[in-house]
Amino acid sequence: MPADQPTVLVVEDEAAQREVLSYNLEAEGFRVARAENGEEALVLIDEENPDIIVLDWMLPNVSGIEVCRQIKTRPETRNVPIIMLSARSEEVDRVRGLETGADDYVVKPYSVVELMARVRAQLRRARPAAAGLRLEYEDIVLDSETHRVTRAGSALKLGPTEFRLLTTFMEKPGRVWSREQLLDRVWGRDIYVDTRTVDVHIGRLRKALCQHGGTDPLRTVRGAGYALG
Ligand code: CA
Repeated sequence: MPADQPTVLVVEDEAAQREVLSYNLEAEGFRVARAENGEEALVLIDEENPDIIVLDWMLPNVSGIEVCRQIKTRPETRNVPIIMLSARSEEVDRVRGLETGADDYVVKPYSVVELMARVRAQLRRARPAAAGLRLEYEDIVLDSETHRVTRAGSALKLGPTEFRLLTTFMEKPGRVWSREQLLDRVWGRDIYVDTRTVDVHIGRLRKALCQHGGTDPLRTVRGAGYALG
C-alpha cells in the first residue's frame, strides 16, 4: 500500500452505514479510518492524519457539529476538509453546518455516486497530487500521473522516495514539515525508519533538483524540519 494513498476518516455511529461508506471509499482507492463516535474521531484525527473527514451530524454524546467545531478551531487540523452528513434538509441546518466550518454538506439519504464526487472534489483541493493533478512551483513541474518532474523544462531524474518527498512539499508550498510528519507521509506509519533517513533523502532531493543548475528551493527550518520555499 503506497504511503501517500489518501486517507478518509469516516465518522458514523450506525454500523451498516459506516461499512457501506467505507466499502465504497476503499473501492475508489482511499485508505479508510473508521470512528463510531465523536470522541473516537477526535483521537483518530491525530493518529491517522486524514486528508478528508466524512462526518455524520447525528452522533451519540459529542455531536457531529461539535466535532466539526473542534477540528476547525485547532490549527493543526483546521485545513482538513469536512463533508457533513445529515438526515435533516432544512436550510437552517445547512447554514449551521457551514457556520461550524464544514466544507460541504450532504443530506441523507444520499446517492453514493454523488458523495464520491464530493469526496473527490475535496481531495483535488486538499491533495492535488493524489487526485492526479499537475503541480507547479516556480520552474518545477511535477506530473503525478506520469511521475515526470521537470525544472525549467529539463527532465529531472528522481528516485521513488525523492519523488514522494517532492510531491508532499509541492502540495503545500511554504508548509514546514517535521521529520516525523515526512516519515508518516512518505514512508508510511507501519515502517520503522530512523528520522536521520529523512535527512539523507532530503539531501538527495536537493541534489536532484539542482542537477541542471538553479538554486536549492528547499529550506531547513532549525528545530522544526523542512519546507519548500
Ligand atoms: Ca448517525
